[in-house]
Amino acid sequence: MIDIANKSALVTGGGRGIGRDIALKLAKAGADVAVSDIDLETAQKVASEIEALGRRSLPIKADVSNSDSVTEMVTAFTEKFEKIDVLVNNAGITRDGLIMRMKEEDWDAVLNVNLKSCFLCCKAVSRTMMKAREGVIINIASVVGLMGNIGQANYSASKAGMIGLTKTLAREFASRGIRVNAVAPGFIQSAMTDKLSDQDRERFLAGIPLGRLGTADAIANGVLYLASPLADYVTGQVLTIDGGLVM
Ligand code: NAP
Repeated sequence: MIDIANKSALVTGGGRGIGRDIALKLAKAGADVAVSDIDLETAQKVASEIEALGRRSLPIKADVSNSDSVTEMVTAFTEKFEKIDVLVNNAGITRDGLIMRMKEEDWDAVLNVNLKSCFLCCKAVSRTMMKAREGVIINIASVVGLMGNIGQANYSASKAGMIGLTKTLAREFASRGIRVNAVAPGFIQSAMTDKLSDQDRERFLAGIPLGRLGTADAIANGVLYLASPLADYVTGQVLTIDGGLVM
């Protein structure tokens, strides 16, 4: 079993979906885990589940696209846990549409919540991690950041941007003992993919060699591996967890 006892982790967008599974997975492996979400109520529920496992937790209301909110989130985190060992940038949204019909506000919203947030959160934890000369950052990107997707110009650009940011930060932080990696989920059974039309779902399934959607648990497994000492020689990588969709 992977053991990350005595580590403290912060998961953004941890109130539901993949983020919730990641937060619980890290806690089950021994970490104390703060759950941040734009919806405090969902963060509180997950934090209670983590405490029921015997770990420390903290629900934090934060809009990760907002600089002040991110600063407050990291301050609240460090007040309770002192140091941050693991940051998982998971919060994300979609506002799909063909580019001809895509509103500028939908472009901005997706880029801000998915990509700018990643910049803000990485920057906010960088001082503490550099001082400690260790830390792990895991950015939840997407396969569409690698291969593009019709109707997701904003989303795929934001996820491709996260991958570029991951590689740059991996280089900037390596000498300080901080590892930075991305996880690129394929099509995962979730509220996000529940919105897909039957036609799109069939189209995606046809391209997945393993022939099924993935689970949030499969993504959480990848995050746990990257957060753990098993991955201590892994940085700047994109771990694709997608049933073989991209290869
Ligand atoms: P989800 O169920 O929609 O969960 C996303 C979480 O992020 C929600 O709790 C949401 O809160 C929160 N959030 C949204 N905007 C936020 C903001 N500005 N600040 C803080 N939190 C915010 O999505 P998911 O399917 O679990 O996806 C999680 C991550 O995996 C995302 O980055 C997504 O792009 C990525 N991903 C998902 C899939 C998939 O198939 N599901 C595939 C590839 C990548 P509210 O619910 O209150 O809005």
